[in-house]
Amino acid sequence: MAAAARMDLDGNPILPMTICMIGAGGFIGSHLCEKLMAETPHTVLAVDVYSDKIKHLLDPPSAAEGQQARHPWDGRIQFHRLNIKHDSRLEGLIKMSDLTINLAAICTPADYNTRPLDTIYSNFIDALPVVRYCSENNKRLIHFSTCEVYGKTIGSFLPKDHPLRKEPEFYVLKEDASPCIFGSIEKQRWSYACAKQLIERLIYAEGAENGLEFTIVRPFNWIGPRMDFIPGIDGPSEGVPRVLACFSNNLLRREPLKLVDGGQSQRTFVYIKDAIEAVLLMTENPARANGHIFNVGNPNNEVTVKQLAEIMTQVYSKVSGEAPLEMPTLDVSSKEFYGEGYDDSDKRIPDMTIINKQLGWNPKTSLWDLLESTLTYQHRTYAEAIRRAMAKPVAS
Ligand code: NAD
Repeated sequence: MAAAARMDLDGNPILPMTICMIGAGGFIGSHLCEKLMAETPHTVLAVDVYSDKIKHLLDPPSAAEGQQARHPWDGRIQFHRLNIKHDSRLEGLIKMSDLTINLAAICTPADYNTRPLDTIYSNFIDALPVVRYCSENNKRLIHFSTCEVYGKTIGSFLPKDHPLRKEPEFYVLKEDASPCIFGSIEKQRWSYACAKQLIERLIYAEGAENGLEFTIVRPFNWIGPRMDFIPGIDGPSEGVPRVLACFSNNLLRREPLKLVDGGQSQRTFVYIKDAIEAVLLMTENPARANGHIFNVGNPNNEVTVKQLAEIMTQVYSKVSGEAPLEMPTLDVSSKEFYGEGYDDSDKRIPDMTIINKQLGWNPKTSLWDLLESTLTYQHRTYAEAIRRAMAKPVAS
């Protein structure tokens, strides 16, 4: 019996499409590829310089001797190892596709003030041809921006105890109303946010002047398995990944979690699997998603970074069976941790009105639950490798 046709939110059948996914080998790309292979009939042309995180989708599964095993999605995902900075094959791949999803970027805060040129080139200059090819060839584009484009909240400029700081209009971030507030130019941290803002403005202008069909996604701290790397295990020893992998690394090595400037910044965390549901809705409902910018986050999962460290310490103790450290956290200055030119957003609460109205999407997973499944993955994937690495004698 043929499988029932999948329907979009307006009751129309969803037709199979070809998606050129740039940055498909990264954290978000790997989860999106998994979802598209497991639940949809779509084909993915996966573009990246790395493929480790999607290897399990690309390589054939193991089979009994003499037999060739196939994934159920066999033939629907192709990997194209290319650097979009300088590869003429990119336009051909975009032309072959119905939709391009651009995820490629340098997006680790430790790079923004230490490698500002690479950050600006990656997030603005390298994205330009992608936008141009989509516009010239009348192809739809879903572009990944960031919640960092909002910068600091209006409330952060009020005195500490000012009552207006508690009013939502002074801190809730709305796609169509909130301003983008960055620090001065020598605060190079804002190089990333500023490059993302300019590419958003360019895409928006391509829509307004040349009819580009676009959707812009502003992720608010999506976390889950396969995010970044663990220094010295599957990434450089001196590398500084985003906060989830930094704290995981400390927990795995039984070191105190480093809190930058006391960990007072507030963040909302959303589980990657919830967020991917939102991206699938955008992908399959173009009439509802085109022309929109969407916040994708979980306003109910707000904590300070210090509270995040404390919860991760408790959850890790539960999943690993190890007792928590006596001194679980250590304060470090941002200058010591990130270097000169660092600065930060104080608070990030996404307004959910637009995504709710257009796509009916809501996040589901609590902070505790998403940390439990993520840290279970981190423990299973890395604990043994870390134990072995730490047991090796240090060369004198
Ligand atoms: P990621 O670093 O895991 O993935 C990015 C991928 O892009 C990597 O695999 C990288 O190899 C690839 N890439 C970078 N430059 C490339 C190039 N020149 N050619 C080919 N491939 C290239 O990051 P992620 O968390 O998956 O983020 C994806 C997008 O979402 C980024 O644009 C990021 O700015 C945005 N974003 C993510 C979050 C989050 O919470 N994860 C938050 C805000 C914004």
